[in-house]
Amino acid sequence: MAPNYQKSKEMFEQAQMLIPGGVNSPVRAFQSVGLTPPFVAKANGARLWDVDGNEYIDYVCSWGPLILGHRHPAVIHAIQRCLERGTTYGAPTDLELILAQMVVEALPSVEMVRMVNSGTEATMSALRLARAYTNRSKIIKFEGNYHGHHDSLLIKTGSGALTHGVPTSPGVPENIASSTINGRYNDLELLEKIFTEVGSEVAAVIVEPMAGNMGVVPPAEGFLQGIRNLCNQYGALLIFDEVITGFRLSYGGAQSYYNIMPDLTCLGKIIGGGLPVGAYGGRKEIMQMVSPAGPVYQAGTLSGNPLAMTAGIATLEQLQQPGVYQELDRKSALLAQGMSQAAKAAGVEVFFNRVQSLQCCFFTKHQVNDFASASTSDTKRYAVFFRSMLDQGIYLAPAQFEAAFVSTAHTENDIERTVEAAFNAFKAVA
Ligand code: PLP
Repeated sequence: MAPNYQKSKEMFEQAQMLIPGGVNSPVRAFQSVGLTPPFVAKANGARLWDVDGNEYIDYVCSWGPLILGHRHPAVIHAIQRCLERGTTYGAPTDLELILAQMVVEALPSVEMVRMVNSGTEATMSALRLARAYTNRSKIIKFEGNYHGHHDSLLIKTGSGALTHGVPTSPGVPENIASSTINGRYNDLELLEKIFTEVGSEVAAVIVEPMAGNMGVVPPAEGFLQGIRNLCNQYGALLIFDEVITGFRLSYGGAQSYYNIMPDLTCLGKIIGGGLPVGAYGGRKEIMQMVSPAGPVYQAGTLSGNPLAMTAGIATLEQLQQPGVYQELDRKSALLAQGMSQAAKAAGVEVFFNRVQSLQCCFFTKHQVNDFASASTSDTKRYAVFFRSMLDQGIYLAPAQFEAAFVSTAHTENDIERTVEAAFNAFKAVA
């Protein structure tokens, strides 16, 4: 019997009258898969329940923060204890100190870090800092990478903006858009050409070291090192946007995983343990330019919020346990292999990319190694697959160009159930 989504449908109708598109972040609207979204009532471990009582195995995990799954006891207890002491003080706490120390110890290129409230704020502030440090204005980014929704970086972007057909948003002033140059992910030759033309004006190159907003697209051999070399040659800063990859690819992020050191790193998601957070950090000499140590202004009423710091600390403590990343990798591999076999058995040609606990099944017969090949995916077929999975209780990202997130809470049994459901869903696509 098909699940009933009646209460969710009624709530979504109401929401559309109060909130633009009925949601507070576009990709939640389920538009691209031709549905209205289930409204979530509660979650635990790898499970979500909606207001109609449907149960799902969750591979969105709030878009990445929940690497431990929902309501991990250590995180919940820590938040509860912190709550007893208040919610926000707008003054320094030991918690900020502890999390900053953990970040600095984990990420080899980071000597100092500033906490903010979202990934968007982190990349926005990192760009300002890079522009001030180099006294230059141009930024190079890569088509299909997503760094949040501020003006300088909302240009030919990935994630929800790509899914909703607005990779470049109206409202971004021309003079700001013109200082952002788009490279092609995994295309060093084009990057070199850009540097040859305008290298002396480039403040920074910002990159998702492993692209997670056009599906999952790993860096080609030599790509990150090539960017590093060009930045060195032309005196531009290299910014790694590790909002997804930080504490995800490894405890030391993508920079440790690929062994390439950026000048600045942007973080978010996992370091807030499910509460709103972001951070940017890097070499002391650069970070010392941030106010009040230096002249580059950046502030935040709720920055370093005690609850977010606490949830982040508790999450990172769990990730320090031996074997966590090996186990995530093992389970993620099981899922990708199972799904791959299910697709083959159902006679559907798809292409899988997987890096550690991030993976994406592209509905294309091409190998996906850049934005152009990711764009060959058949989003209509993805929508059919997605709807079948949802009806079978598997909650995936409601868009082709997003990652599936495996958490420590997913069990082998969850993965088996997912693979069984995937076989049926692939058959629906075939
Ligand atoms: N950078 C990357 C790589 C992201 O994936 C995201 C969000 O998904 C952001 C930045 C923006 O973060 P936030 O949504 O917290 O503003």
